[in-house]
Amino acid sequence: MYNTLKNEYISIINDILSEWYYMIKIGIPYIEKGEVYSKLNCDVIIGEKENKIWLEVDKIYNDYLCTERCDAYVIGVLNYAMRNHMDITSEIPITGELLYNINRYLIPSLAKHDKSLYATKITAPIADSVISNFGAVGTGFSGGVDSLHAVLTNTNNEFKSLNVTHLLINNSGAFVDNKEMKLHRYKVAEDFAQEMGLALIKTESNFEDAVPQSHFYTHTYSSMFVVYCLQKLWNVYYYGSSGEDFSEFSVINSTKASSTAYELLSLNCFSNSKMRIYSEGGALTRFEKIVDFPIAQKYLHTCLREKTNCSKCIKCMRTIMTLDVLGKLNLFSDVYDIDYYKKHKHKFYLYLYKAHLQKDSMIEPVFFALKKNIPIFIKLFALISIIAARIFTITNALNRAGEDCKSITILGFNFMFKKRPKIRTK
Ligand SMILES: [Zn+2]
Repeated sequence: MYNTLKNEYISIINDILSEWYYMIKIGIPYIEKGEVYSKLNCDVIIGEKENKIWLEVDKIYNDYLCTERCDAYVIGVLNYAMRNHMDITSEIPITGELLYNINRYLIPSLAKHDKSLYATKITAPIADSVISNFGAVGTGFSGGVDSLHAVLTNTNNEFKSLNVTHLLINNSGAFVDNKEMKLHRYKVAEDFAQEMGLALIKTESNFEDAVPQSHFYTHTYSSMFVVYCLQKLWNVYYYGSSGEDFSEFSVINSTKASSTAYELLSLNCFSNSKMRIYSEGGALTRFEKIVDFPIAQKYLHTCLREKTNCSKCIKCMRTIMTLDVLGKLNLFSDVYDIDYYKKHKHKFYLYLYKAHLQKDSMIEPVFFALKKNIPIFIKLFALISIIAARIFTITNALNRAGEDCKSITILGFNFMFKKRPKIRTK
C-alpha cells in the first residue's frame, strides 16, 4: 500500500517536472517591421526561462522571414535539448520532411552512439508541404579559408543554378562579444560582396544569449537556425565549416566533438525537397581548400584576436605555415606578416610540434611537410610543455596554488603568449 502510494506520488512529480522543467516550448513567430530592419520574434520557453528569440535583417528581406513553421527554432535548440534531456513542443507546424529526417536519422544516430544524449521528442502539428523559396543560392562570409572556398569555387562556373547569389553574415561565434571586431568584419563583408557583385545579408540575433551553448559543439545548429529563419529565400545553401574531409565523419560520442564531425548527416537531414544544404568542400581538407584567387589574397582572414590577421594566434600560425608548404606565402603578404614568420619560425614550429603530439589531425599535412625543419630543442620543449600542462591540470584540480605556479613556469606561457594565464593568488 505504502509502495503503491509512493510510486504514484513519484509518477505525478515526474509528470509535473516533464511538463515544466524538461520542456522547450516554441510559441508563434511574428514579424516586427521597422524603418530600416525587420525582426522575426518568437517566444521560446526553455525549462523555466522565458525568452524572446529574435533575428533582425534589412527590411528588404522581410518577405523571406518564415512565420509559418517552427523549423528554425527546432533546429536551433535541438542539440541543447538532447544534451539537457528535454523535449520540444510547438504551437505552429513543423515541415514534415524535416521532422521525418530528424526523427528517423539524426536523433537516433546521435543518441545511439553517445549515452549522454537524450532522444528528444518533438511534438508539433505536421505540415505536409515544404515552404517555397525565392531560389537564392547562399553561403556565409567570414573571410576564412572555408568561407572563401565556398564563395569562390561556387561562382562563375558552369553550374549556373548552383552559383552563389547571396552572402550571409551572422553575429555568432568569433565576434559575439567583440563589437568593434564585428563592425569591422561586417564592413569587410560589404566590400567583398560589392567586389564580387553579390548581395550581402547582415543579420543580428540574440540566439546565442537565449540558448547558451558551446559554439564549437553546436555551430551547425545555430548557423542553420539563421538559414531557416530565412528559409523562404534559399534554394541552395553552402555551409563550409569543416577543416577535415568526409573521411573524418563520425557520430561516436558527438558531445565531445565539433558538430562538424557529422555534418554529412545533419545537413542532409536539414535539407528538404526544395532546399539543399551542402557541407561545402567536404571532399577536401582545409590544407587542400586554400584558394589563391587575387580576391582571396586580399580578404583571407583567419585571426582569433584581431580585426586584421595578427600572424601570431593559432589560426594565423596554422594558415601561414600551410601557405608556406603550398609555396603561396608571398601571394598573401598583404594579409599576413611574412617577415614575422621568417624571423620567428621557432615559435611556429613549437606550435606545430605540440599540435602534432596532441593529434590535431588538421595540422598533420603541414607537420609532415615541415617536420624535417623542426630542431630537436623545439621538440624537447614541446614535449616538456605538454607534460607540464598535464601537471598543471592536475594541480589546478587539487587547488594547490603554489604547484600551479611552478607548472606554469615550466609551461613557458610567456614564451608563447603575451598574457599569462589567470592563476589563484590565495
Ligand atoms: Zn591571429
